[in-house]
Amino acid sequence: SSKRQGRNTINFYCAEDDQKGSNSLNVLNALHSAIHNDEFKIAYQPVMNLQSGLVESVEALIRWPNAQFGYTSPEIFIPLAEKFGLICQISDWVLEKACLQGVEWRKNQIFDGRIAVNLCARELRLPNIVERITGVLEKTGLPPEALALEITEGTMVSAPDKVGSVLQTFRNMGISIYIDDFGTGYSSLSYLPQLPANVLKIDKSFIEGLYQEEKNVVIATTILQMAQNLGMAVIAEGVETASQMQFLRKKGCSHAQGYYFGEPMLPAAFQDFACQIKSTMDLSDRTDYTA
Ligand code: C2E
Ligand code: MG
Ligand code: MG
Ligand code: MG
Repeated sequence: SSKRQGRNTINFYCAEDDQKGSNSLNVLNALHSAIHNDEFKIAYQPVMNLQSGLVESVEALIRWPNAQFGYTSPEIFIPLAEKFGLICQISDWVLEKACLQGVEWRKNQIFDGRIAVNLCARELRLPNIVERITGVLEKTGLPPEALALEITEGTMVSAPDKVGSVLQTFRNMGISIYIDDFGTGYSSLSYLPQLPANVLKIDKSFIEGLYQEEKNVVIATTILQMAQNLGMAVIAEGVETASQMQFLRKKGCSHAQGYYFGEPMLPAAFQDFACQIKSTMDLSDRTDYTA
């Protein structure tokens, strides 16, 4: 039922069962016109290098300022777009827009790190996914080394062989592959060493509970050790406090992302942010982690 699905889904599924169909239809229509009227925006969230204090990459996160439904999280409308077969149009738009933004920031010397874009399972399984991405890079002029693709654990599990070879092609081109929301996919770990991914993103649910729950400390520490052994970098997601950051630094975590450093920002705000911390954010003199 709608209650069990949590607060994020209430917007669309609070209606009784017999109204669900027409509700979905409204959303479908709204998504359609959002695509055609260019209503989406992209917010960029910094990913910090915990050693240098520099912004190493930014994650592109889609935003839908929508009058009819109010603020709607991508966690709601992206799955709906997937279900309705609109995800590829939306994704192509995000990819191209984010690449263009990256090119502009490079040209204006505002930011020259990687731009990370989220891909969902359906897109990765498109037979022409390599051509699509290559085409956008050529069209926009973003170098492949400046692009990262974020893929969730679940996506891998759905078709490991096929997805693996597509990802290997991307890696060979110089594109980075980040495994998103790591630790939440209920998958076997045995596939991980074979995956052509270079970065693991520890899901924010483990970072959130670092103090409340000892088991999250164990999980975060274990993921960090495993990544180190596999030669992968780690980005801790959802870092909101100095203590979380200090804990992660002590455990040798290389990168972090979260409200503590910066929220997802529209381009103008990110530009200000990037200029302000050009001299690097000093992470060393912040409160020490005390467990
Ligand atoms: P994600 O890729 O795991 O993105 C991280 C989410 O965590 C973002 O939510 C971000 O705003 C949020 N976040 C960042 N720092 C913090 C923090 O310190 N605390 C907390 N509590 N949250 C933080 P957002 O922007 O609502 O996006 C949700 C999900 O929607 C994303 O999860 C991603 O799976 C999906 N998504 C967003 N944009 C796109 C897109 O362009 N394409 C696709 N396919 N999926 C997208
Ligand atoms: Mg992501
Ligand atoms: Mg994530
Ligand atoms: Mg997520």
